[in-house]
Amino acid sequence: MAAYDDNNIFARILRGEIPSHKVYETDTVLAFLDVMPQSDGHTLVVPKKAKARNLLDADPETLADLIKTVQHVAVGVQKAFGAEGLLIQQFNEAVAGQTVFHLHFHIVPRKEGATLRGHGAAMEKPEILAANAEKLRQVLNG
Ligand code: AMP
Repeated sequence: MAAYDDNNIFARILRGEIPSHKVYETDTVLAFLDVMPQSDGHTLVVPKKAKARNLLDADPETLADLIKTVQHVAVGVQKAFGAEGLLIQQFNEAVAGQTVFHLHFHIVPRKEGATLRGHGAAMEKPEILAANAEKLRQVLNG
């Protein structure tokens, strides 16, 4: 497996070099909206400090901490977007569909009859992302 690259786009978001629609954070984990959402409210959850490409090279403590926040954010996403269910996805290496090589979980709201948009297929309008981020922050942060 290739080495972790400090210049991947999520590392740059974590360093504040590029903007993101942040919705929740702890000392160790950040959640922000996916800019190419598969459904409204599609959220990404990433560790802030661990230099892990994906689940395969992450240490177990990082994973344990991360999944707790994934659950917390998932419950908020379900409420904020009225989801009937949630798809939790995590890709490992390009051959499996991974495109950004900093460990992350996807939280994708699902509703009966609503088909998902493609993975990383189309950029959402900034104003829609901003409105969805605000809706989710209200639920997650009160
Ligand atoms: P993966 O294929 O699991 O590595 O997922 C990477 C995800 O990151 C895709 O769903 C992209 O839409 C999303 N993405 C790429 N660039 C950004 C960005 N700057 N901010 C938020 N999400 C992004």
